[in-house]
Amino acid sequence: MDYPVRYDVIVVGGGHAGTEAALAAARTGCKTLLLTHNTDTVGVMSCNPAIGGIGKSHLVKEIDALGGAMARATDKAGIQFRILNSRKGPAVRATRAQADRQLYRAAIRNIVENQPNLDIFQAACDDLIVQGDGIGSTVCGVVTNTNMRIHATTVVLTAGTFLGGLIHIGMENHSGGRAGDPPSIALSKRLREMPFNVGRLKTGTPARIDARSVDFSVMQVQPGDTPLPVMSFMGSVEEHPQQVNCYITHTNERTHEIIRNNLDRSPMYAGVIEGIGPRYCPSIEDKITRFADKDSHQVFVEPEGLTSNELYPNGISTSLPFDVQLEYIHSIRGFENAHITRPGYAIEYDYFNPQDLKHSLETRFVNNLFFAGQINGTTGYEEAGAQGLLAGTNAALRALEKDAWVPRRDQSYIGVLVDDLITMGTKEPYRMFTSRAEYRLVLREDNADLRLTEVGRELGLVDDERWAAFSAKKEQIEVEAQRLKTTWIQPGSAEAATLEAKGEAKFAREYSLHDLLKRPGLEYADVAGLKGEPAENQQVAEQVEIQAKYDGYIARQLEEIEQLRRYENTKLPDDLDYDVIGGLSNEVKQKLNTLRPETLGVASRISGITPAAISQILIHLKKKN
Ligand code: FAD
Repeated sequence: MDYPVRYDVIVVGGGHAGTEAALAAARTGCKTLLLTHNTDTVGVMSCNPAIGGIGKSHLVKEIDALGGAMARATDKAGIQFRILNSRKGPAVRATRAQADRQLYRAAIRNIVENQPNLDIFQAACDDLIVQGDGIGSTVCGVVTNTNMRIHATTVVLTAGTFLGGLIHIGMENHSGGRAGDPPSIALSKRLREMPFNVGRLKTGTPARIDARSVDFSVMQVQPGDTPLPVMSFMGSVEEHPQQVNCYITHTNERTHEIIRNNLDRSPMYAGVIEGIGPRYCPSIEDKITRFADKDSHQVFVEPEGLTSNELYPNGISTSLPFDVQLEYIHSIRGFENAHITRPGYAIEYDYFNPQDLKHSLETRFVNNLFFAGQINGTTGYEEAGAQGLLAGTNAALRALEKDAWVPRRDQSYIGVLVDDLITMGTKEPYRMFTSRAEYRLVLREDNADLRLTEVGRELGLVDDERWAAFSAKKEQIEVEAQRLKTTWIQPGSAEAATLEAKGEAKFAREYSLHDLLKRPGLEYADVAGLKGEPAENQQVAEQVEIQAKYDGYIARQLEEIEQLRRYENTKLPDDLDYDVIGGLSNEVKQKLNTLRPETLGVASRISGITPAAISQILIHLKKKN
């Protein structure tokens, strides 16, 4: 039967990509449906209950700057907040929050349920309604497991680890989307009939442990930071629930010996798992094999929530059989009597080569069909949420018959993520790092709103409340920076004496507060109040300080970006025949004819496309025009 309502956008999957996609589409004003297996699992964290971290918090803050939910939910659910790399430069500083799993899910669900223009419906999507055949066909809805046909202009697929999901614990395996959830088999089969390039990846999770059976007294305590950080630009410390400690323990020679002796019972080492796992989040079997010279690895012991006794032992994910998990966990200091509440497991799933996507995340083969999240070969909630927001926005823009939004690499980590995926593809689960961005100094987590909120407002993603707060903050930054530039401290004055006494400045001439702030030993708090009133808003103070201190470097990076942008934006016509361009090798011609990059900038980042090839294309384009 036909579902009674026709939608502009249908989002399949209520995970991290799906919720951000559905919320974004609905915020633009499009009539949106979030179709998911189980409405009670909307916003569930499949693995460790933590948001942010290096490179990832940059994505979370960008999602936030564009009006998304992840950072807001984190502020309501975070039970421990830390700033990583706090002693390093602002480009690599990153906020990480340990979240209460239940509070996080509740916060996301609350945001989703109260979003205007957004309906939720519980069902599995088993099929797509497609007009036409193969390459160039157009999606126009979905079919559920109860044979309901739901029509829409665009569809966003965010099925996570569920497509053809196969769970492994030792040599046992069974179908599943993640522990306790069904896999998505019918949809996987349908997508495999379409012209997409499909592969298999795998990821894993550790056993969970009952806190009552753990001896914390022999572990190192890891408290959260003071002052307490917040994740969202709209967030406040008052929203945070009770804060708790995490702990650190270590594996040892005995742990490694147990694992080594049982490697033949690991499905990965016995060749039962074909999918490739995340390089930067390896299983404990991988760690002791790859880093055989190390006799110990850290284990972060993290609470799963305020009302749960379960602990997440971060660092020992595994697919070994249960008896081996029990034995090696008992060999770890503090875990001697640990009771396992859930065994660790690995999951293998289908993913689609992201090179089959456009930068808008629409597929190149089926019009109006968008892919986001783990199915594009990424790993992590943040990577999924960022793609979801982009795919949901672009699905909505398509429904509204507007041009797609493609975030640039010099504008956002979302731009870096999508550009990396599409130009290079991925053979292993892709996660974000600050090192992936060439314009790190400009793409800081602290300025994500200054980079993106105006764009978000134009796209219809940013509501009035956020826009008003952002506009006020932006103005305060400008006013305060100007005040510091025009407020002078004279030699011999009481203010100069204060700084000279601290040994931080010598006053041979007058200096502005802005000049003083540039000095390495001085911070905003040291100089802003010497004359006049310092900014009360912490975010304003932080911005003014960073902009003053890194002024020269930032200006140089902006100049570089400007030069490259000319390149970047040169469009490559859809029908450009690379075979007729002189001076290109056959390999380059074949790559470009297959991948069909949208701009010269994108072409320049495809592996094997040399600067010489780019100049040949430029010359050809100039001749043509
Ligand atoms: P998911 O969060 O998987 O959400 C998919 C959603 O789609 C679910 O709600 C599901 O019910 C729904 N769905 C699927 N198919 C259908 C359908 N046909 N019809 C309707 N609804 C459907 N990340 C890390 O960063 N580090 C790790 O170490 C790590 N380990 C992991 C270990 C395990 C065992 C698992 C399962 C995941 C792990 N992850 C890890 C990955 C992290 O959970 C994902 O990156 C993230 O959840 C991906 O978000 P997503 O929205 O793409 O998909």
